[in-house]
Order: sequence, then C-alpha cells, then structure tokens
Amino acid sequence: MKTIGLIGGMSWESSLEYYRILNETVKQRLGGFHSAKCVMYSVDFEEIEKLQHQGNWEAATALMIDAAERVERAGAEFLVICTNTMHMMADEVGQALNIPILHIADVTADAIKAQGQTKIGLLGTRFTMEQDFYKGRLQHKHGIEVVIPEEQDRQTIHTILYDELCLGEIKQASKEAFQRIIADLEIKGAQGVVLGCTEIPLIVKQEDSSIPLYDTTTLHAVAAVEFALKD
Ligand code: GLU
Repeated sequence: MKTIGLIGGMSWESSLEYYRILNETVKQRLGGFHSAKCVMYSVDFEEIEKLQHQGNWEAATALMIDAAERVERAGAEFLVICTNTMHMMADEVGQALNIPILHIADVTADAIKAQGQTKIGLLGTRFTMEQDFYKGRLQHKHGIEVVIPEEQDRQTIHTILYDELCLGEIKQASKEAFQRIIADLEIKGAQGVVLGCTEIPLIVKQEDSSIPLYDTTTLHAVAAVEFALKD
C-alpha cells in the first residue's frame, strides 16, 4: 500500500470526511485491522480564505507549494489536495514535487463517463464555477459539457459555502436552496450534478436529487485508495 499524502484544512470539516472514507475504504478492500497509510498537512484556512477573497493567488500558490512539499517530505508517495478550489494551482504545485497529484477533476470525470453522461451541472465556490481550471479540464480534457447556475445562484452557493459549511453550520434553508438550484440545472439540460466543493456532500445527499450527484469528496478519497493499492 502506498502512503497517501493529503493537504487538508480547507475546510477541516471536509478533511475529516476524507480521513474517514480513506480508512473505511481500505478496511472494505483489505479487511481485518487494515487502515490507510497516510500523512496530512492541515493548513490554517483563515490564511487561505483571506488570500482567495483578496485575489492574491500568487501568495495562495506559494502556500500550497509549501504545504505540498511538507507532505512529500513526510513520506507521501502521491498527493491528494482535499479541496476543488485549490486545484486552481495544481499545475504549479505538481511542478514543485517529485510525486504525482491525483487530480480531483480527473477522478470526477471518470465517474461521469462511467455513467455515460456527457452534460453535467457544476456547483462549487465562485472560483470553481466561474474560472476555467475546473470547468475547462472537464470540457477540454474529458469532453464533458458543463452548465453552471445563474449569477445570483452562484452567489447564494458561495455565501452558503463560506459563511456556513466551512464553519461547520448546516441549515435546512440552505439545503433547500441547493435542491432548487440542482433542479434548475436539470432544466438547463444537466444529466447529473457535480458537488464540486468538498463541503457540499455534508448538506446535500443523493436522495435530495432526482438526477445523479457526483460527490467529489467520496470520489476523490475512494480513488486515492485505489491508487494506493495499485501495484
Ligand atoms: N472545500 C472547498 C472546495 O472543495 C472550498 C474551500 C476552499 O476554498 O478550498 O472547493
């Protein structure tokens, strides 16, 4: 089993899910007392969140490279960045490392293609929904068409993510907002919806939607175990 390296803390609520799913999946695969070999460097999210909202992506990239190097020095054999948004600088982080990155959008694209779907809705932070690093990768590398919510709904989601979910708050009204926005994406032709923020699965579950949901936290963590167990 390879040692899985994780950059966590974005937010720690979702990193907890990664840790739980990694260990449960290894146990399912290997049985007995088996658990995941892993190291995590967990950032102070306040520092990251400030840089994101200032648009200081250069400093955010430097922070991510520093975190990734710490994970590599701790013995990781590949890297899992436990957030969709901070894959924005995955290329720069990858160039600084000698170990590979398991990219969350690639893992998600594999799941979409396995369902035979070609057009999906994308929910996440404004950065993930509006910039090209994630949508573009799904579209150009994987041939998947992506639709995103309207401006006002993008703002609603962004606010729920930063003002509630990343602070550990789960509210029924916010869950209902997600359900309405997912239904709108279906009307726009989405065959499924990517929960492209690692906190969204804390509030929205498959039973809340009539179309398939792609839970990026679970998909990424399970793919990490598959990669770790591969020869
Ligand atoms: N966990 C979130 C994501 O998957 C947002 C927090 C962050 O900005 O990294 O995008």
